[in-house]
Amino acid sequence: MSARPWYCGRFAPTPSGPLHFGSLMAALASWLDARAHNGEWRVRIEDTDMPRCPAGTSSVILRQLDSFGLSWDGEVLYQHQRNDHYQAALELLRHTGYAYPCGCSRKEWQRFPHYPGWCREGNLHPDRPPAWRLRIPHSAPDAQIGWHDRRMGAQHWPLAELSDVVIKRRDGWWAYQLAVVVDDNAQGITDVVRGADLLDNTPWQLLLQQHLGCPTPRYLHLPLATAANGQKLSKQNLAPALPDHGDTIRECLFDAIDMLGQCPPQALRSAPITEQLQWAVSHWQVSKLPSADVIHDDTGNRASSL
Ligand code: GLU
Repeated sequence: MSARPWYCGRFAPTPSGPLHFGSLMAALASWLDARAHNGEWRVRIEDTDMPRCPAGTSSVILRQLDSFGLSWDGEVLYQHQRNDHYQAALELLRHTGYAYPCGCSRKEWQRFPHYPGWCREGNLHPDRPPAWRLRIPHSAPDAQIGWHDRRMGAQHWPLAELSDVVIKRRDGWWAYQLAVVVDDNAQGITDVVRGADLLDNTPWQLLLQQHLGCPTPRYLHLPLATAANGQKLSKQNLAPALPDHGDTIRECLFDAIDMLGQCPPQALRSAPITEQLQWAVSHWQVSKLPSADVIHDDTGNRASSL
């Protein structure tokens, strides 16, 4: 086995639509952090849920990364090709008792804040195709899971607040929580830089890493970019795709560097992307990232000109 580099970052988009400004900020921050550490940066296409991923979107995303100068190392990993690896992880969890089959339907437990664990001691509906759930330890009522976030500081999560999350869906598709842990480990990821919308997924990922014997990466969760109207920039909210030509790419990249709190000089706004990225790598400071939970994209060009 080859030794792990001391820094390996990644960008792991779900190809349910082209990248928008919010996803550019996540990709850019992760890329800058990797390059500022002389580290590697990998791309993984998280297409476990194939029906949600229109054909051709992965290529669009890779072209977008390329046109913004965000070069990656090694082969792109596609989750739809990794069934055997997820199955092996599920087997391990099943044998160690950390995964259990559950035939309950959401309708049956919808009046509870989260799934109450009815199938923990045995599947109540063996006649139905099961989902597989992660068993959260409930031994000590005040037990917590904690970690340090590089921007947000100490995080503590009471285990009692965590549901027995689904790791394989009843329709046979692998769930994000399991796939992300298996693949962060397979790709040797040491540093995860991603949006704070995923902060509350981290406790499940830490538990899965522990159960599967995988190292826990360092985490940095970025503030969420919202449109001027306060709505999160997301594919669901129909945030516009990134621009795809010359000047508008340059301006958009500049705005992303700026919104990451890095204070680029105005003269850089019309500079070629390689020059902008070079500047941003050599001036990258995590301490300058905005401390707020959300940042408003008030540059205006996302809504009007993209
Ligand atoms: N695939 C996830 C998304 O596009 C990101 C996963 C991650 O960074 O852990 O939101």
